[in-house]
Amino acid sequence: MRFLIAGAGPAGTLLACYLAGRGHQVAVYERRQDPRGLNEAEGRSINLGLSARGVRALGGIGLMDRIWPLTVPMRGRVVHVPGGPTTFHPYGTRDDEILYSVLRRDLVALLIDHAAAQPGVSFHFGHRVVELDREAPAVQVVEEATGESARVTADVVVGADGAFSAVRTQLHRGVRADHHQEFLDWGYKELTIPAADDGSARVRLEALHVWPGGDGLIVAHPNRDNSLTATLFLPYEGPGGFAEITDPEAFFAERFPDALPFMPDLAKEYADNPVAHLVSIRTSPWHDAGRVVLIGDACHAVYPFYGQGMNSSLEDCLVLDQCLGAHPGDPERAFAEFQRARRPHTDVLDELSRQNFVELRERLRSPLHHARRQADLLLARMFPGRWLPLYTMISHTTMPYADALAKARRQDALLRWAAVTAAGATALVAMRKLVRKGH
Ligand code: FAD
Repeated sequence: MRFLIAGAGPAGTLLACYLAGRGHQVAVYERRQDPRGLNEAEGRSINLGLSARGVRALGGIGLMDRIWPLTVPMRGRVVHVPGGPTTFHPYGTRDDEILYSVLRRDLVALLIDHAAAQPGVSFHFGHRVVELDREAPAVQVVEEATGESARVTADVVVGADGAFSAVRTQLHRGVRADHHQEFLDWGYKELTIPAADDGSARVRLEALHVWPGGDGLIVAHPNRDNSLTATLFLPYEGPGGFAEITDPEAFFAERFPDALPFMPDLAKEYADNPVAHLVSIRTSPWHDAGRVVLIGDACHAVYPFYGQGMNSSLEDCLVLDQCLGAHPGDPERAFAEFQRARRPHTDVLDELSRQNFVELRERLRSPLHHARRQADLLLARMFPGRWLPLYTMISHTTMPYADALAKARRQDALLRWAAVTAAGATALVAMRKLVRKGH
């Protein structure tokens, strides 16, 4: 079949590899330039945390051996609290429970190389998909440089064009579609912790660094050149919000004093880099009549606080490939099966990503949260493979998201029951003592 993919992000490029592996013809249209031809400055790239689900999906096309060298392992979180000790929290109980930081550009460039090397695959950069004809199916593409427009037909159009998907908008036109889109009242800005003058890392490299700050948060992922890409999350409005910051260095000195020394280029970067939005999207349907299907952020964008947006998008490609394999020659059934298999889980991911926002922002500073997490890790060590903290299940296993949440809720109920029973037993012993003393 002839597939046309709109968007060469992580999802579109990995799907191109899977489809080519099944012998389909694939044409990918991407509005941006080819990331392989850009120099460092033009191709500024965010880095993303790759975890078990992404690793499994990328492993499905046999590419992990080439991806590992592009990554920096993150063995846990380093939490920086102003005036307090800097603490390291391992991600899991086992040595292999780690995340990997990878530049989006590096990952996507490798996937493009891999897909483009296969017969029947073509990439068209600098081409924006602007219209979808659901029935044909066909799309209208505009070449960004010249403004020239062309109609391209295919057997299947895939919308892998991200959270603000043009394919999704037109797929849903005139249809009883559900669409929940929510912008967080926080935005984010990218900053850098460059390597020190001698080329070494300014902070422990193999970790994710977090500066929780009540109404504000910095998260930093490591890069292979010993720098870290830091993301500053803040409310748009109100005291300490982006709208009120006139002197970023003074703001950092007050709110993130222990991050400030690591950011010598703060003032310039703060002025140069835009504030970007955070959006969450739950939507349905994801497909139409075996002719159009959505994957990745186009059908389930989440807030980035669980580090699972890309991982779940890569996982989509694996599941869609399995559905196509289970229903050869019947894309309509394959796409219906794909949505049925994925949507309950990506809805749960949306919920978890919201919860983790609160956790990163507030609970990381709380001793109670720390104690709860220690209890979870202790139980995981006492009952290996049977007691799994929720974070472990989401980030270090490929257990479907909804199953992981259900198991975590059962574990929580057990822990509460044990706490109540222990408290009850203690009270009983105390009462017996009082009764014996003749009270
Ligand atoms: P996108 O990455 O959005 O790619 C869509 C592509 O389509 C783009 O290349 C775009 O240029 C192109 N496009 C858009 N419209 C058109 C059009 N009309 N025509 C042609 N092309 C078009 N996820 C993680 O797993 N781990 C993390 O650590 C992590 N950190 C994050 C941090 C931040 C601050 C943010 C905002 C997100 C983070 N994510 C993370 C989420 C992750 O970036 C996304 O979930 C992931 O990129 C989705 O991949 P995608 O291919 O579906 O969409």
